[in-house]
Amino acid sequence: MPFGTTEYSFHLDNIFFKNIDGEEFHKGNVDVELTVKKTSNTHEFNFNINGVIQILCDRCLDEMEFPISTQARLFVKFGKEFSEESDEIVIIPEDEGEINIAWFLYEFIALEIPMKHVHAPGKCNKAMSSKLKKHITRSADDNEDSGGISDEDFLDDVNLGVDEDVEEKTDPRWDELKKLIDNN
Ligand SMILES: [Zn+2]
Repeated sequence: MPFGTTEYSFHLDNIFFKNIDGEEFHKGNVDVELTVKKTSNTHEFNFNINGVIQILCDRCLDEMEFPISTQARLFVKFGKEFSEESDEIVIIPEDEGEINIAWFLYEFIALEIPMKHVHAPGKCNKAMSSKLKKHITRSADDNEDSGGISDEDFLDDVNLGVDEDVEEKTDPRWDELKKLIDNN
């Protein structure tokens, strides 16, 4: 890659987020505009991230849409071994000369999720809310038991939105990305 600025755009879809397999969320439709500015020893990545992700409502545990609109910056430098110097500076080994942008993208988006997130008033799944209330009451009654978490009846009823048939596969778009900062 020559010195100067190069622009890229990516679309992150459900398959991308499923493959990332992060803890905070698993679904979304997000557009990323990326500008890579290369100088003699640094790559400056500027991300413009816009879209919608699916997260679980704290109150009813149903999925809810959460809009994402954020910008992030990453300085990538070559060094002896991989290290994150700060939120914005990453050192990658010179002989590898590549970085997995996918995980950074996931983290940039996950950072936008507030601690507490619930549906707008009246939009919660009512069946789920009342089931939860009942469950909480029941757990409090018999806390001699191992606790509410292992209550199988309850877990069967909760749709956590996780598909079982997740396959291990790599997304060819990210193979392309890895080549972006090939130092050779
Ligand atoms: Zn809700």
